[in-house]
Amino acid sequence: MSDSCCGTVAVEIEQFATPQQATSGQTGDLPVAVIGAGPVGLAAAAHLTERGIDFLVLEAGEQIAASLAQWGHVRVFSPYRYNIDAAARRLLEADGWTAPVSDWLPTGAELIDDYLAPLAKLFGDRVRLGARVSAISRLGYDRVRTAGREQAPFLIRLDDGTELQARAVIDASGTYTSPNVLGASGLPAHGENDVSVDHALPDVLGADRDHYEGRRVLVVGAGHSAATTLLALAELENTPITWAIRAGNATRTYGGGDADALPARGALGTRLRAHVESGRIQLLPGFFTHRVNATGQGVEVVSRDPSGQEQAVIVDRIVSATGYRPDHSIAAELRLDLDPVLGSPRALAPLIDPNQHSCGTVPAHGVDALAHPEPGYYAVGVKSYGRAPTFLMATGYEQVRSIVAAIAGDWEAARDVQLDLPETGVCSSSLVEEQEQRVGLATGISGGLLSTPLPLATVSAESGGSCCG
Ligand SMILES: Cc1cc2nc3c(=O)[nH]c(=O)nc-3n(C[C@H](O)[C@H](O)[C@H](O)COP(=O)(O)OP(=O)(O)OC[C@H]3O[C@@H](n4cnc5c(N)ncnc54)[C@H](O)[C@@H]3O)c2cc1C
Repeated sequence: MSDSCCGTVAVEIEQFATPQQATSGQTGDLPVAVIGAGPVGLAAAAHLTERGIDFLVLEAGEQIAASLAQWGHVRVFSPYRYNIDAAARRLLEADGWTAPVSDWLPTGAELIDDYLAPLAKLFGDRVRLGARVSAISRLGYDRVRTAGREQAPFLIRLDDGTELQARAVIDASGTYTSPNVLGASGLPAHGENDVSVDHALPDVLGADRDHYEGRRVLVVGAGHSAATTLLALAELENTPITWAIRAGNATRTYGGGDADALPARGALGTRLRAHVESGRIQLLPGFFTHRVNATGQGVEVVSRDPSGQEQAVIVDRIVSATGYRPDHSIAAELRLDLDPVLGSPRALAPLIDPNQHSCGTVPAHGVDALAHPEPGYYAVGVKSYGRAPTFLMATGYEQVRSIVAAIAGDWEAARDVQLDLPETGVCSSSLVEEQEQRVGLATGISGGLLSTPLPLATVSAESGGSCCG
């Protein structure tokens, strides 16, 4: 049984890794490899440090938290007190660091500058930048070979050909670098890879302004990332905006307006609806992106709906805000047990199902929910959630606390999973409003970006779930 803020949730987990498997073998002297120096990878490093376990963090980017840096202009909706891992805080404070104000909602850039960069500095050369992991296997073992497998070290290959060995792998490589495609059926639209498609959440009113102003822009997607981008684009002069969604109408994105349980979410939807109704944003419902091709007049984006009917729009810029998916290809030689729908570990799927949960109602979970038939390999952080958009840093921190305890052989601590989240939710719209009033954080979106949050939504089976991101 596991307690969540919404009550007690019965959790039955298949246990793949026994304590003996996780701690025995000839690999004990090797470091633990952590893939990715984002918030969760660095939190894993903090817990490994506290446990006195050698580790190496392998980060693909030329800076730590390279994915987060790409949305550095976006302000998160969970305050600092939920964004700082407990072990990281202890290490940092022992080094003389002063934590940022606990109810502050940082931008991605602030998270890096004020928390993650000082944290990474503590680990020195155990954080290796420009180290992209291209594959993980077990030394001398392909996926089929069994006898003695559990004693074999992990073999990690980087894209420059370097190979490293590790006793365990904590894969915190995220999903930001594997966005969903434009194609409506989950396959790339024909020609999608031949035209330029912008990632979700461009810095429309900042660094990317010139890229969009005065251009015809198409935004594809029905989530809060799409809504945030649309509202920012609506601030630009002479910029025709088209918004394409698969659904027959935008009711889900608009939310409940004045009657919405979260006023800020209602405000976001109300403003978006007003722009659509005034014609500032042209909404194309029932748009199933099928084909994209460059023409002399711009990029033609063609929808073909399930009945075969086509509609098309010609634009200069395309913003794909269709969500993310995990890339498990680096672990293809390992034995993974993935949920067929979400691509999360199978045991985790019912706990994070966006049809049932928002991020605030996901129960605490740790090593048992994250284990695979391959002992010692754990995908953690936002990657562990697969396609579920219900991830919070706070849940990722508890994941790595539990996993590191298991690697250390402390199974009592590993299985004592806890999450201290308020019933009112982590991504508080009232905090957003308070902060905006305090410091007038306007980013160009009418009323300030903070008044158009990516809110914590209470989800129903009809609406699907999306959280802070
Ligand atoms: C716009 C936005 C707003 C969000 N707001 C909130 C919020 O308010 N509150 C909240 O709790 N959560 C929020 N989230 C969700 C989540 O907390 C973040 O996405 C968080 O960054 C996830 O941390 P992570 O460490 O799991 O992955 P990431 O931050 O994605 O880090 C993964 C790291 O791995 C590296 N990497 C990738 N592939 C490889 C490879 N092959 N080899 C080596 N390194 C690799 C990347 O460069 C990156 O540095 C938000 C997300 C987004 C996108």
